Amino acid sequence: MKNHEKDNDLTRKNREISSLKLEIEEVKRLTAINEKLLLASIREQERLLNELSKRSEVILKKGLEIRELKAFNKIIAVASKHLSIKDILKYSLQVIISSLESLEKAVGREVKISGGIFLIDEATEELVHFTSSGISPEALGCRGRVALGKCICGMVAQSGEVDIIPYCRAETHHGGMLPACKEEDHAHVSIPLKSGDKVLGLIYLYFVPPGYLHLASDVSIFSSIGNYLGLRIEKARLYEKVQELATHDGLTGLNNYREFHNRLDHEFQRAKRYTKTLSLLMTDIDHFKLFNDTYGHMSGDEALKTIGRLIRNLVRSVDIPARYGGEEFAVILPDTPLKQAELVAERLRSSVAGHPFFVDGKTVSLTISIGIASFPEDADTKEELIKAADRALYCAKNGGRNRVYRFTRGKNPCNRVTIPGAD
Ligand code: GH3
Ligand code: MG
Ligand code: MG
Repeated sequence: MKNHEKDNDLTRKNREISSLKLEIEEVKRLTAINEKLLLASIREQERLLNELSKRSEVILKKGLEIRELKAFNKIIAVASKHLSIKDILKYSLQVIISSLESLEKAVGREVKISGGIFLIDEATEELVHFTSSGISPEALGCRGRVALGKCICGMVAQSGEVDIIPYCRAETHHGGMLPACKEEDHAHVSIPLKSGDKVLGLIYLYFVPPGYLHLASDVSIFSSIGNYLGLRIEKARLYEKVQELATHDGLTGLNNYREFHNRLDHEFQRAKRYTKTLSLLMTDIDHFKLFNDTYGHMSGDEALKTIGRLIRNLVRSVDIPARYGGEEFAVILPDTPLKQAELVAERLRSSVAGHPFFVDGKTVSLTISIGIASFPEDADTKEELIKAADRALYCAKNGGRNRVYRFTRGKNPCNRVTIPGAD
């Protein structure tokens, strides 16, 4: 090769090398950019994943909150269906437990929940066990009574605030481990039952195994449940009071005239339908006007209360004693034939006659007269039964008072009942 040709070749190679160098620089620059982009995209992906998981957590929690609200609705529906405190609390507790179990299931936890309800006894300032599900007061170690301020339940009843303890063994603020926590660790939820600011009782719930998925809405939803049930308790108590006033006599506490007729209607229909016996006692205090005139109306009222109590204590719990009028008492004896009714009547008569009534520092006595009539032998209708027992009472008065007479259909309706051995 000639010299100038050699120079040309060198120049060309140098150019090629320079161009290659430039290319390498370009590749390096592009690689750096690429790396930057890659890093940014990884970071962005991470950010997005993070965001996504946060959102799905929020969605899950929102879903649970919706389920909680649904459960709350269910509790309201169940509680408003019942009138008695016993039914309201029993069925509400069942729904609360089953709803919470299914909420736990929704987050993949297989949890067994048990619990119960305490109501406050204002006289003793204690929580008294009222109802439970899957747990007994003995298992709680409190035998059904907890003083206010003692244990978790007593503390919640005092503070009136919802309390959620995920691991009860780790909890010591009540001054030592509770017996129930020693036996089996559990999450402990306490919901006070309130009417306004007044705590009426509380619901306690045990979650086994322990641990608890805490939602921000829990405390407020539990509070709402407690407030709603508290109001229902107050309303049911008011209803029970009104019922009591409408059906019972204020002086003696026995069924009143109206309730007597309702109950006799019911018992008469039942006796007829199931071909059962039914007896009725009509009772009147002897010479009570004289007692009032001698010792005063207040002493008369006291005597009426005492006789009412004697009658209530001397009959079975299924029997229905009532204050029929001023100083007249009636007793409905379901499933009782005449012969047994005679024994009951004689027991009432002799108990009153033998009872010492203390008036003005003295002991005085009072007597009652009793008339008996029975279904089916003496009457075909409820009205006939009352008439027949009244007639027998009239006979007892005419026969000399302090005695028992029974009605008999036919010519001679007056028959004195004498029990051998009775005074
Ligand atoms: P008898 O033996 O014939 O039944 O005589 P009695 O005096 O008991 O009968 P009567 O029907 O003549 O009088 C009933 C009296 O019962 C009239 C009233 O002084 C009294 N009495 C009725 N209701 C009450 C009440 O709520 N309190 C009091 N203290 N007395 C009452
Ligand atoms: Mg009378
Ligand atoms: Mg009388």
